[in-house]
Formats: sequence, structure tokens, C-alpha cells
Amino acid sequence: VKADGPTVESRIRRFKEAVRAAGVKLTHQRLTIFREVAASLDHPDADAVFREVQRRMPTVSLDTVYRTLWLLNDLALIRTLGARRESVRFDANLEPHHHYVCVRCGLVRDFESAELNALRVPEIVKGLGSVSGSHVEVRGTCDGCMKRAHKVSHPDSPSRKGSKRAKGAHRE
Ligand SMILES: [Zn+2]
Ligand SMILES: [Zn+2]
Repeated sequence: VKADGPTVESRIRRFKEAVRAAGVKLTHQRLTIFREVAASLDHPDADAVFREVQRRMPTVSLDTVYRTLWLLNDLALIRTLGARRESVRFDANLEPHHHYVCVRCGLVRDFESAELNALRVPEIVKGLGSVSGSHVEVRGTCDGCMKRAHKVSHPDSPSRKGSKRAKGAHRE
């Protein structure tokens, strides 16, 4: 799933400014890797970024992608999700937002909520260490996985409109 054009373009602009300001060389490779994360709504991990970038740049190595992603993270151009380094996922959305995570397929989607943004971190957390930010993770089984699990009787029916009204009418 791809971010919309204007969003990607504004992220690319911020990338170019940040790279210039940090005195980091703006290479085609770095731009390609950043563009991949900036254009994705999937919160890809390093492997997924590598696979996509490799299509356009067959010579790129996983190591380069890995190092570039962490460089972008150091430049505060992307953020990470997840605690374990090996399964870390990257996120180019720097606006306050929260995540919906599917526990089956690992799908991650952003959502916004002013209410959750205003959530206060309890004092007790500060006893554990410094706090640089917080977000809410809502977990569940995504629609796609639900459909795969329940194998609907009309496999090619794309329509969801009217499904609310039809609720309850399915009882035989
Ligand atoms: Zn799923
Ligand atoms: Zn996100």
C-alpha cells in the first residue's frame, strides 16, 4: 500500500534538507532507499525495503540498506517500531499517530487520534528511564485475515456497502 504523491514529495523534500543540513552526501542510493520507506504505508522491515530497492538497483546489498535505514533513523527522518533489532520496522510518518497491528499477518496501519495524542505517560514510567515519545498500539485480526479465515461464500464480492444494513438479515 502506497502513500499519496504529495505526502511522498514532502517527505522527500524534508529528506533532502536534513541530509544537506547534516552534511551527509545525498546519493542516488540513499534517496532510493528513503523513497521506498517514504512511499510505503506498510511499515516495512529492512528485508522488505531491500527487496523493493533491489528491483530498481540490483547491485544494492542488504547491508547497505540496513546501514542507510539506521542513518535515516539517526537523522530523524524515519522512526522505528518494535524493540528487537532484527524485526525492527521503519516508519516515515513523523506526525503524531498510532498503529493498528494485525497479530496474524503483521500488517501495520497508521491511524490518528487527538484523544490518544493527549494521553499522559504515568509518572511510574519515568522511573524506568527517559521518555522520548509514546504511541498506542491497537492489536487485532485485520479484515484480510478475517476473510481468509472465514472463506466468504462470495469470494469475488468486493462490495461492503450496505453490509451494515444487511446485518442480522443473514439469519436463516
Ligand atoms: Zn492480517
Ligand atoms: Zn506509523
